[in-house]
Formats: sequence, C-alpha cells, structure tokens
Amino acid sequence: MYKEVVSEVNEVRYVQVSTYMIKDPPIVNEDSRLIDALKVLNEKGVGRVIVGDSKGIISTRDILSVLSSRCRPCVQASLAELSEIPVSEIMTPLPVTVDAEADIQEALALMVSRNFGSLPVVRNNKTVGIVVERNFLIEFMNLSKVLRVSQFMTRKVSTGNEEMSLYEALHVMTRRGFRRLPIVKGQRLIGIITAYDLLKIVTRALIKLDDQILRFPVEKYMTKELKYVEPEDFVNDAATIMLTEHIGSLLHVGENHEILGILTERDLLLALYHQLIESGVQQKTLH
Ligand code: AMP
Repeated sequence: MYKEVVSEVNEVRYVQVSTYMIKDPPIVNEDSRLIDALKVLNEKGVGRVIVGDSKGIISTRDILSVLSSRCRPCVQASLAELSEIPVSEIMTPLPVTVDAEADIQEALALMVSRNFGSLPVVRNNKTVGIVVERNFLIEFMNLSKVLRVSQFMTRKVSTGNEEMSLYEALHVMTRRGFRRLPIVKGQRLIGIITAYDLLKIVTRALIKLDDQILRFPVEKYMTKELKYVEPEDFVNDAATIMLTEHIGSLLHVGENHEILGILTERDLLLALYHQLIESGVQQKTLH
C-alpha cells in the first residue's frame, strides 16, 4: 500500500504543466480598455486575462475591486468612465509565469506559496497558455483517497442575505477577498452568488451603461441549485463533483439547512499540494 501510494504520487509530480494548460489563453493587448478585457473574460470563462505577452494579468477579482472602489455613486457617468480605463492601470504588471516544460510540483508550489490562482505558461519567452486552479484537480482521479474534506473546508462562512443588492454583495466579496457569497434567509441557506455571476452582471452594466442592475436584490441572480459536501467525504470525490458540475465550490449544511462550511477549488488546490508535495500522504498511509 505504502509503495503504491508513493509511486502514484511520483508519477503525478513530474507531469508537465503543458498537459494542464489552457491553450489559446484569453489575451488583450496593452492599449485595450477595461471593457475589452471584460468582453474577453466573459467569452473565455477562465477568470483571468493576460495583457500583451505576459506584460500583465487581470483577474475577475481585480475588475470587481476596481468597480467596487471606483463606482461610488455607481451612476451612468461613472460606468462610462470605468469602461474606458486602460488595462495598464488595473493589471498586475509582470506576473510570475511558469515554463511549459516545468512539472506540476513547480506550478503548485508557486501558486500555493504566493497565493496565485493562475499562472501564464511560457515557452521560449512566449506566452503559450495559462493554468488556473481547477486545471490541476483532474489529478485527484489518479491519486488514492487519503485526505478528507474536513481538513480543508472553511467553517466560518461569510454570508449575505436575500435582500442585499448586487452592489453590496460585490463590496462584501471584494473586501473579504474570496469569490463566493452564500446567501441566507434567516439561518437557512437559500443560494450562492459568485464573482463570475457578478462579472457577467457588471459586463452588462458597462456595455449598456445600466446603473440600475447593480441595485437589484441578489436573490434575483443567485444560483439556487446548490451542491453539497460532507466533512468526512474524500477531497477526490469533491474534486469530481466540481469538475463534472462545472462549479467552483461545495457547501456543507446542518440539519436545519444552516451553513456550516464551504469548500472551494482553492481549498482543493491546497489539498493537492498537500498530497503531492508535503509528506502527509506517506505518513498517513504508514499508520
Ligand atoms: P475562493 O477565492 O472563493 O476560492 O476562496 C478562497 C478561500 O476563502 C477558500 O479557503 C475558501 O474556503 C474561503 N471562502 C470562500 N468563500 C467564503 C465565504 N463566503 N466565507 C468564508 N470563507 C470563504
């Protein structure tokens, strides 16, 4: 058993980054404006856009933060101004990149230690792709079930309520620095709104210069069909659900449907790092 687990870990550790990368990554050129970046972000659904040849990178969270801090009051004129902001003003310049021939260990170590959700992939100094957290989760299918959801789930969950406006949800999410806000009615979990949902709404607001949409209650746009997880489930099974259902988080609820935890693709990336790189696997299977 011990030998098998060590060899399966070794097999996965050395898989090249190019195997996971999204080819034809979302790219805008350096003189683009925020509205151009938003259109590309919506088309590709990768959550990030590379500027130039990895001169910069913009994440969904960067765009939502700009909107949340600069659209005050969020009227038509401020929307028009925002959509014209040059991408160079909001991008993170010179992002850390990873070589296409590097192995998954190197990419994971960078993403975990520096808290990056993505890395542009380069070959001969040219950008050829991008990897994001969820691209790596497929490896859980090749790994033994040893780690449980309880070790990685966040138990203290920030929530919003159904009357909150989309604009307020945007503030809470950007201030706290995560990409999902479960919505409750009283104590009961009734839905979730994600950064990706808000990105689509913001794009619409900017294209149509519609300053009303962000005032709508979150209930109108939240996802009501939720997927759940139990603390004793294996992270491998949680990864399978996220990949097959095309979602980035799973929720854990109690008897009265009160929220007791959230597990996101970020948490699963940490779990993968733990299983592949830290010694957790060997120690656990030895006992
Ligand atoms: P995310 O950016 O949403 O993938 O989440 C980053 C980290 O924050 C992960 O550890 C999540 O478990 C945690 N997290 C995400 N959403 C929430 C929330 N609403 N309340 C508390 N923690 C959260």
